[in-house]
Amino acid sequence: MTATATALGDGVLDELRGILGGDEYVLPDLPARVNRTRVPAPFPVHRWGEFLPDVAVLPRTTEQVSEVVKLANRHGIPIVPRAGGTGLADGAVPLRGGIVVDVKLMNRILDIDLVDRTVTVQTGINMLTLNRELKAHGVIYPDDPASYPCSIVGGRIGTSGWSLIGGRYGHTRDLVISMELVLPTGEVIEVGDGGGRKVRKSSTGFQLKHLFMGHQGTLGIATEATLELVPRPEVEFAAFFAFSDYGTAWEATGALAKSGLATLAGVVLFDEWKLAYLRRDDEAYIPQPPTVRAVIASAMYGARDEVEPASRRLMRIAKETGGKYLGDEISQGDWASRHDRYATPLHGRLKDGQVVPMCWHCEDASIPYSQLPAVREKWHAIAKRYIDRYGIFDDWGMFAYTNAAYKPWGDYLTEIDIGIWEQELDEESWRGWVQCKREIAEVALEHGGSITACHGATRAGDVELVPQEMGGGFEVMKKIKAALDPNNVMNPGKYLLDQAYEGENGREAVR
Ligand SMILES: Cc1cc2nc3c(=O)[nH]c(=O)nc-3n(C[C@H](O)[C@H](O)[C@H](O)COP(=O)(O)OP(=O)(O)OC[C@H]3O[C@@H](n4cnc5c(N)ncnc54)[C@H](O)[C@@H]3O)c2cc1C
Repeated sequence: MTATATALGDGVLDELRGILGGDEYVLPDLPARVNRTRVPAPFPVHRWGEFLPDVAVLPRTTEQVSEVVKLANRHGIPIVPRAGGTGLADGAVPLRGGIVVDVKLMNRILDIDLVDRTVTVQTGINMLTLNRELKAHGVIYPDDPASYPCSIVGGRIGTSGWSLIGGRYGHTRDLVISMELVLPTGEVIEVGDGGGRKVRKSSTGFQLKHLFMGHQGTLGIATEATLELVPRPEVEFAAFFAFSDYGTAWEATGALAKSGLATLAGVVLFDEWKLAYLRRDDEAYIPQPPTVRAVIASAMYGARDEVEPASRRLMRIAKETGGKYLGDEISQGDWASRHDRYATPLHGRLKDGQVVPMCWHCEDASIPYSQLPAVREKWHAIAKRYIDRYGIFDDWGMFAYTNAAYKPWGDYLTEIDIGIWEQELDEESWRGWVQCKREIAEVALEHGGSITACHGATRAGDVELVPQEMGGGFEVMKKIKAALDPNNVMNPGKYLLDQAYEGENGREAVR
C-alpha cells in the first residue's frame, strides 16, 4: 500500500476538497487514515489494514458535513463519524472503509445562556475544554466519564455515554437538551424534547431525541448540541471504605445507594480481583493489605449546606454496614485521579507471573443489584477458563457502579476488566476472545441485565446478541435504519443493521 493509496478516485477527492475548502481538510495519506482507525479496545492487530478509511475529512460547519454526506450518497461511499476515538465498542472503526468524518475542528462554543441555563456548542468540543470556559460563569456541564480529558460531545451523543457523577447530575442523554443533526441523506434537522432548542420537557410528537442518542453513528452526525448547565459544585466530597469480604461490601453498597441523599453522585464497589490487580500492577493506586477484599468509593457533589450534613449521614451508613473509612488522603486523592487511571502504559501478568504489555478491554453491562454476586462469580469463572486456555489474557477484576440517573439504586454499570497481550492475538485467540465476550454478555442477559451500560454493543461477541436483548425492538431498529438511510451509507455494518437491506442497497452494494 502506498502512502496515499485510496479506493476513492481523484474526482471524489477533488469534490471533497471543494466542499471542505482546501487540501488541509481532506486527508488521504496513510498516517492520517491509520490514526483514525485505532481504538483503545483490543484489536486484531494482524487485520488492522482491513479497517482503514479511504480518506479522513475535517469539516468545520454543519453545511460541510451535510454536503459530504450527500456526496457519499451520490457515490455509494460508506461514511463514519469519529469524535475522540475513545469508544470501546469499535463504533468509529470504518468496517468498510470510505470517508471518516472527524468532527474535532467543529469545536466552537456558540452560545452561553446563563438565564435559561444552557450552552450551545459544535459537537467537536471536549468537556474539559468546555468546562474551562464555563468556569468564569460559575457553572459546569457535568458529563464526567473516566475518559473526560479525551472524549468529545459528539462521541458522547453517539454512544449515549455514562457519567461518573450521573447519580447526581444525569448521564449524556439527560444533559443533551437538543441537537442539530445531519441525517444519513444529508438533510439537516433539529431534535430535542420539544420545539425549542432549550425546552427540557414537551409532549408534542415522538420523543426523537432519544432515537438519536447511542446509535453509534448509524443514524446521522450530530453537529451542534444544546447542553444543560448546572451550578459549579461548592464541594466534591469523596469517601472510600474497606471491607474484609465482598458480601458485606455488596450489602453496604445497596444501603448507601438507597439512602435517598440527593447529593449522592455515585457509589462504586470494587471486588477482590480488582484490588489484587491494583495492589500488584497499578502504580497510581495506594495499595491496601490483603485483608481488604472489597472497597467502596462514594462521592457527593453540591452546595456546602447540602453536602456537609449528607456526608455525615453517608459516613454513618458506611460504618454501620461494616465499612472502615480509608482516610482523606486515599479518598480525595483517588477520586481526584479518576480520569487518569488508564493514562499510564498498561501491563499485565501471564499465569506464570511474567509481566507483558497489555491492552485493556472492559466488558460492561447493566446488572440489577440483586444479581451482582451471582454475575460476579460467573464472569470470573469464564475469564479463568479463557486465561487457562489461551495464556494471553489476565483478569483485572470487576467493579459495579450505580447506574441510573437521580435514582441510583436499581441497576449497576458492571464491568469486568480483562488485560490482553494484543500483539499475540492471532485468528484462533481472537475467535476465543470473541467467544469469551459473548459468554460474558450471555450471563448479563440471563440475569435480567443489558449487554452494555454505556459503551455500545457494536463489537463482535456482543453484537450477535442484540436481537435477543432487543426482541421486537430490533425489527423496529431495522425499519428506522432503512427509512432514514436508504443507501446504507451511514456507518454500515454496525449493529447487524445490514439486515435491514436487500438487493442493491445491501452489503455488497456498499463496498
Ligand atoms: C480510559 C477510558 C475511560 C472511559 N470511561 C468511560 C466512562 O466513564 N463512561 C462512558 O460512557 N464511556 C467511557 N469510555 C468510553 C468512551 O470514552 C465513550 O464511549 C465516549 O462517549 C466516546 O466518545 P468519543 O468522543 O471518543 O467518540 P468516538 O469513539 O470517536 O465515537 C463513538 C461513537 O459515536 C459515533 N460518533 C462520533 N461522533 C459523532 C457525532 N458527531 N454524531 C453521531 N455519532 C457520532 C462514532 O461513529 C462511534 O460510533 C472510556 C474510554 C476510555 C478509553
